Amino acid sequence: VWAGVPQAPPDGILGITEAFKADGDSRKLNLGVGAYRTEEGQPLVLSAVRQAEQRLVADGSRNKEYQPMGGDATFCQLSRRLAFGAECPASAAGRIATVQTLSGTGALRVGAEFLKKHYAVKVVYLPDPTWANHGNIFGNAAGLELRKYRYFDSQTRGLDYQGLLSDLGAAPEGAVVVLHACAHNPTGVDPTPEQWQGILRVVQQRRLLPFFDSAYQGFASGDLDKDAAALRMFTSAGLELLLAQSYAKNMGLYGERVGAISVVSHCADAAKRVHSQLCAVVRPMYSSPPIHGAAIVVKVLSDPQLFGLWRQELAGMSRRIQAMRTALKQALIEVRCPGNWDHITAQIGMFSYTGLTKAQCQNMTNKWHVYMTMDGRISMAGLSGARARYMAEAIKDSVLS
Ligand code: PMP
Repeated sequence: VWAGVPQAPPDGILGITEAFKADGDSRKLNLGVGAYRTEEGQPLVLSAVRQAEQRLVADGSRNKEYQPMGGDATFCQLSRRLAFGAECPASAAGRIATVQTLSGTGALRVGAEFLKKHYAVKVVYLPDPTWANHGNIFGNAAGLELRKYRYFDSQTRGLDYQGLLSDLGAAPEGAVVVLHACAHNPTGVDPTPEQWQGILRVVQQRRLLPFFDSAYQGFASGDLDKDAAALRMFTSAGLELLLAQSYAKNMGLYGERVGAISVVSHCADAAKRVHSQLCAVVRPMYSSPPIHGAAIVVKVLSDPQLFGLWRQELAGMSRRIQAMRTALKQALIEVRCPGNWDHITAQIGMFSYTGLTKAQCQNMTNKWHVYMTMDGRISMAGLSGARARYMAEAIKDSVLS
């Protein structure tokens, strides 16, 4: 019966790790997948997370019962506070419905499905470029109509601010607009606070519905509040909006799949009904979310000692990534690689959008065993000080070939 099933296309990002594993060359470097690595190239479990887990194991009163469809209420409340801030009037007024999800992807998926069922305008604007899974989630899976808005200017390797304003300014009234809360993936280019104000104005003028994707809070700048500034600016302006949160990067909980979807409504009564409908989306998909990762997050966010430790570790990860940007740029200058590489240090977050062409990226992988996405994106977290020079030589060779 499955004779006619075609092979699914390989995932552009996850396939890179497979190819990396199969490469026997000792010089190989995996800069494809967006997961943090130590200077030694190893995955990192944060001490705050380890300690939280030890306490959970030691607590004999815990059981493995099902959670409600919306997950752990304390987890939801703490996640809301982390994103919107302790002083958020919308949160205090009970205007934000939050449901625990399977990481950021699950939050986007539940949010998209909710929009499909309960929001009249079926048009979603995605930045060009954006994280590839956005198209899968909003388009293929939820069946919403996808449109692009200009984001990256390949000349300046910065934000195409005018293009962005003009595309969103021409959007149909009420269209959904996906905004990366910070550390735009894949470009590493974020609007300045003034540019966010301009984006807010056009969102208000066109009555657009913002859907913030926050996968890197605290990871981008090392400061949890700074990385939430755009979301809080829009919420303070009184807008109704959605937020997808992920703890994959900032707490290193990748495989635990912990996240949350929040929907801001104009009143508490609407928020209650929205919450019930988010749960109604969850029920036929997976019934209820898992316990363990959310329990870790609750411990870390509610215990002052663990919270302090987490913030330090978060700042440490962010600093190492920043140091890799500086090291790579310096090495590129030292090997006399042609071109201007200022964008390497100007961009923020886990990724750098190098500007390498597809052919140059192929040379990076085929000749130099450097694994990366073919759009020129590299994960700075995969680099180490010891390998910066090698990477610079590889880039130079690729630019010249
Ligand atoms: N959104 C963006 C922009 C991302 O980069 C990621 C992680 N690659 C996610 C969402 C969600 O990731 P996860 O499902 O692992 O939380």
